[in-house]
Amino acid sequence: MSTHVVVLGAGFGGLELSARLSSADVDVDVTLIDKSEAFVFGFSKFELMFGRESLEEVRSYYRDVVKPGVQFRQETVTSIDPAARRVATDRNAYEADVLVVALGADYDLGATPGFPEGGHEFYSIDGALRLRDLLPSFTSGKAIIAVLGEPFKCPPAPCEAAMLLDEWLTERGVRSNIEISVVSPWGRPIPPSPGASKAILDRFSERNITFIPEQGVTALDPAKKVAYLRDGGALPYDLFLGIPIHRVPAVVEASGLAVDGWIPVDQANLATRFPNVYAVGDVTSAPVPKAGVFAEGAGRAVAEYLIAELRRGGSPKPYDGAASCYVEFGDRKVGRVDVDFLTGDTPSARFAGPSLETAEEKREFASSRRQRWFGH
Ligand SMILES: Cc1cc2nc3c(=O)[nH]c(=O)nc-3n(C[C@H](O)[C@H](O)[C@H](O)COP(=O)(O)OP(=O)(O)OC[C@H]3O[C@@H](n4cnc5c(N)ncnc54)[C@H](O)[C@@H]3O)c2cc1C
Repeated sequence: MSTHVVVLGAGFGGLELSARLSSADVDVDVTLIDKSEAFVFGFSKFELMFGRESLEEVRSYYRDVVKPGVQFRQETVTSIDPAARRVATDRNAYEADVLVVALGADYDLGATPGFPEGGHEFYSIDGALRLRDLLPSFTSGKAIIAVLGEPFKCPPAPCEAAMLLDEWLTERGVRSNIEISVVSPWGRPIPPSPGASKAILDRFSERNITFIPEQGVTALDPAKKVAYLRDGGALPYDLFLGIPIHRVPAVVEASGLAVDGWIPVDQANLATRFPNVYAVGDVTSAPVPKAGVFAEGAGRAVAEYLIAELRRGGSPKPYDGAASCYVEFGDRKVGRVDVDFLTGDTPSARFAGPSLETAEEKREFASSRRQRWFGH
């Protein structure tokens, strides 16, 4: 009898895990479930927001996931019973020998008073598309990009948004009428990487972007167009882009898998406290940033662990929490931070400065994943 692996969520984590299991010579049936019909890279939200690509251009359809042993189901997960490894969706019920939760993080816009009415976000596809339509009418005033709570996906994204907004406004000849500020909870843009942080702050000072460190926005007054700060101060704004407060999806919260907001996992193999239930990516409290490259690495680590178990042999490498993150600097240039969170005593990071070559490498990164996961 083959082992039935049910994977909830076809993002970076779920797709990588399914692809790896499919390519291994083991007897598994994988059911991969996602409510969406298509995958979109997180960083494609920038392409949408600045009108560089259309929604159709950035989508990869799950119907193209044609892999031996993998069945994709477009369904919404409505309940998870981790003790019984039973899952209900809007259309079916599943019993799993092995259950993997890879449902990512949701956004809670209402958790920041005034934000739904007075601000915008580029973290969802809809939010990025709304901004694409709104940005052309923003020709003067103050733009604020602010983090509304931790943890949040893709730590460099607020600074990337500022550098790309600067470039976009400059190309339209209105940049000199606009002030751009970034409000960050941290002392520098990317805490584990002094090199990347310095390069971002150098670009900010060249391009007249203000970095406001160790600060947070707690509420907006949409009528007065004021953002209230954690320290009691206030900032006036004309355009407010917030990184929303993140939460596990409601179905994960209701399952009892989460503790203090996120699913705790064994660092080495991403096992939860329920037998044969694993969790990967943004939905976990693994001590790595919430980013696709880490979710992908975790998905791969679980796959290797399961393959070794199914073969009753081999010693899979523990999850290393190492990945390369690309950072958009504007002018089509991209930098790269190679970070390792788990193998040493403290996180280590190496930084490659912004270049057109690294921008090409980022495009290859995306096309290699499209090839591996969707076959084109
Ligand atoms: C603007 C921006 C830029 C980014 N840039 C980068 C970058 O350059 N590099 C990088 O590595 N990361 C980047 N990220 C972060 C990255 O997109 C996420 O960290 C990554 O997608 C997490 O992968 P995951 O597999 O954990 O979850 P996800 O990719 O979010 O996948 C979760 C899946 O679960 C599905 N789902 C959720 N609830 C249900 C349900 N009830 N039923 C069925 N399906 C459900 C969703 O539809 C989704 O497909 C960026 C993010 C943003 C917003």
